[in-house]
Amino acid sequence: MITLKNVCKNYGPIQAVANVSFSIPKGEIVGFVGPNGAGKSTTMKIITTYTAPSSGTVTVGGFDVVENALEVRELIGYLPETTPLYADMLVHEYLEFVGRARHLNGAFKSRFDWVVEAAGLGTVLRRKIGELSKGFRQRTCLAQALIHDPAVLILDEPTSGLDPLQIIGIRKLIKELAHEKTIILSTHILSEAAAVSDRILMIHNGRIAADGKFEDLVRRVSDQNSVYIAVRAPKKDFDSSVRSMDLKDIIYDEALPRGVVGAHLFSEAKVDLTGKLNELIREKKWDIFNFTPEQMSLEDTFIRLTSGDKNSQGGDA
Ligand code: ADP
Repeated sequence: MITLKNVCKNYGPIQAVANVSFSIPKGEIVGFVGPNGAGKSTTMKIITTYTAPSSGTVTVGGFDVVENALEVRELIGYLPETTPLYADMLVHEYLEFVGRARHLNGAFKSRFDWVVEAAGLGTVLRRKIGELSKGFRQRTCLAQALIHDPAVLILDEPTSGLDPLQIIGIRKLIKELAHEKTIILSTHILSEAAAVSDRILMIHNGRIAADGKFEDLVRRVSDQNSVYIAVRAPKKDFDSSVRSMDLKDIIYDEALPRGVVGAHLFSEAKVDLTGKLNELIREKKWDIFNFTPEQMSLEDTFIRLTSGDKNSQGGDA
């Protein structure tokens, strides 16, 4: 449904998007994840025809975003990063205005009723947009993006600035829509993407850093065991003993009292590191000060995946 091939976008000397290629089939929901400045908004603006790529091609539903921009716009509902609303309009006036711009004509009434219900706008239809809370403004903008029943939804940071209850509401709506639409949702929070998406696309410095199911991405970086251990033992004996266990890495903890040796030990996931260490401690009769199996947090995962360009798909464009 959406295909990007070798897409680059330069703003003067800044390369915001660098040789990005990916393809999203119909009905898939994709979390587009990366730190601020990674190139998410720029990529979304290219897909939605708001800005043209410097090079490369993008098609939506088979239409080229540069040559068939109007056809692409008809297919897409777009929630931009900053909501372009008219502060003086009442909510229902604004939706009527968007309905006219989208030439909905006879279909307007049923679409209007649907988006008001879906976005939970029933209580604020006669309120001025400028007087709405951030949550209701965001929902009004979402209603705008949905009013023509687009096949594709592009949502740029849809929950930013919302309170936890509003976030739950928007996530629920996105999940409901996911049954029938192709959705790209950008966020700088990995757990946010994981909560709603089938697939995670990570972007860093304008390049795709990783692409896959959330669980697979986490498994890829966490395909190792890590244990923090501190024992009373001679350092030489400790070092030679633990190094005989197929370790990938040792990072010594230098901030321990005299006579105590401690380290973070890393092995491949298939090695029973905890079991082997237990055996060793029993055999050597070392006093244990600390023994903690360590887990990678989501944020660690994110940093591991997005640091360096070793996983990037692009060349050196
Ligand atoms: P994200 O959405 O991931 O935060 P952006 O796509 O907004 O990232 O920005 C990517 C890079 O492009 C950043 O370095 C940003 O400063 C730059 N950039 C974005 N828009 C413009 C613009 N209109 N003019 C110049 N630089 C821009």
